[in-house]
Amino acid sequence: MREELEKNGEELVREDSAALDRRSFLRLGTAAAAVSALDQNRAYGQTSSVPRENWSGTYHFHTDHVFQPQDVAAVVEEVRSTAKLRALGTRHSFNGIADSSSAQISMLGLKNVDVNAGDHTVRAGAGVRLGDLAIEIDKQGWALHNLPSLPHISLAGCISTGTHGSGIHNGNMSTAVREIEFVGADGKLHKLSRAHDPATFPGAVVALGALGVITNLTVDVQPRFEVAQVVYENLSFDKLESHLAEIMGAAYSVSLFTHWQDNKATQVWLKHRVTEGAKPPMPTTFYGATLADKKLHPVGREADATPCTEQGGTPGPWYERLPHFNLAFTPSVGHEIQTEYFVPLEKGYEAIRAVETLRDRITPHLLVTELRTIAADDLWLSMAYERPSLAIHFTWKPEEAAVHELIPLIEAKLAPFEPRPHWAKVFSIPKEQLERSYVRSKQFRSLVETYDPAGKFTNEFLRQVIL
Ligand SMILES: Cc1cc2nc3c(=O)[nH]c(=O)nc-3n(C[C@H](O)[C@H](O)[C@H](O)COP(=O)(O)OP(=O)(O)OC[C@H]3O[C@@H](n4cnc5c(N)ncnc54)[C@H](O)[C@@H]3O)c2cc1C
Repeated sequence: MREELEKNGEELVREDSAALDRRSFLRLGTAAAAVSALDQNRAYGQTSSVPRENWSGTYHFHTDHVFQPQDVAAVVEEVRSTAKLRALGTRHSFNGIADSSSAQISMLGLKNVDVNAGDHTVRAGAGVRLGDLAIEIDKQGWALHNLPSLPHISLAGCISTGTHGSGIHNGNMSTAVREIEFVGADGKLHKLSRAHDPATFPGAVVALGALGVITNLTVDVQPRFEVAQVVYENLSFDKLESHLAEIMGAAYSVSLFTHWQDNKATQVWLKHRVTEGAKPPMPTTFYGATLADKKLHPVGREADATPCTEQGGTPGPWYERLPHFNLAFTPSVGHEIQTEYFVPLEKGYEAIRAVETLRDRITPHLLVTELRTIAADDLWLSMAYERPSLAIHFTWKPEEAAVHELIPLIEAKLAPFEPRPHWAKVFSIPKEQLERSYVRSKQFRSLVETYDPAGKFTNEFLRQVIL
């Protein structure tokens, strides 16, 4: 497993030759992000310490110019003096969404955290990592409503892509945003809030970096709570036919893991909200699955589970249980590619069975699949826009050619269910089809016109999928 060093909020990721070899990958969903030298601007900024590839080393950025502002005034200055640029978080996306052929602006220097207890909100800098934000607000008695599988990502990167955890009643992370502050193409600071801008705010949160550079976000918080995690093994897929919603609703947040073989989910992770110090229910079986006899890593019994958050029903703070992986360790596997599709929850069982027909093609290239649920929301580009969703996720081995071949096959199987791909993961669904499932695409384009009429923040990925 890869060693990941953390320093000054920036990840310093060990470059290895395998990562370099993989740089050619990933034209999926971003095709010619490549080296169009069209965007040659003046040579501004200095070549920085920010690695020139994504976290997993499977996507190589097409610019060496990276600004690293430390405050809002510096962001404003960079936006004003730069012809084209893209905001960058912690680089955990798997496609060209954060790429630029001109310049990027790494926002990790902006990591202020200010709780407003009266308002039940926290105002935080765009670049603060979820894990650091969590520790700070927990100290003051507060919590976010949910967390994704990893706490390592930046707040703005998380909410810009509709990043989610699980839980039948939990919206994605972006649904907690109350106000967004960003520097638009005019070089001015704009604020949009849920309360005062109902016509535009739902389009501005999951905005894929297209409206401008987010500087601060105000996010809902709630009193801190405890969670206890209980893991079961070997849940038959047959149980999902009549009980999918019950199973996914059996705890505050539920994840199923599978390798698609043997008609089963290999693991079921139940994250129960518990009153402080109390143990969760821990029957020895759960819909026929058996209580795990040791701490498990999602990829399988044989994998080292040290990086995973505590299991076995031991209660602990929300931020040390809701993610699958601890902040201090490399999340997931490290050398990997990810793909994820959202389908209507009510069609979830059929969608699972449709993908399962490809099991003998999928399994050899798969590290693990995760199934989660997300509550419906009103954010235009959210993968759960107006539909309670089942998310079918694939963590792939870094086998680009095989993944490249499999993705269209999976998309064809899921086509009857109008799949919405996770914006930050690898997919190949064409723009016309995306337009049908993201029904507010047109309004989103108008919003982009308002804040960025000349395409300062547009990149090849956005041109290919939505703009
Ligand atoms: C191991 C692993 C596990 C994951 N688990 C989950 C999961 O459980 N659930 C899930 O939904 N996703 C998951 N993801 C995907 C991840 O949540 C997204 O890729 C997320 O966008 C990463 O945030 P980031 O800070 O790395 O953003 P980046 O990848 O750096 O950027 C993503 C997007 O956000 C934009 N952006 C970043 N900062 C700003 C800003 N200040 N202003 C405007 N736009 C900005 C970028 O321009 C880009 O469009 C996982 C990824 C990895 C690697």
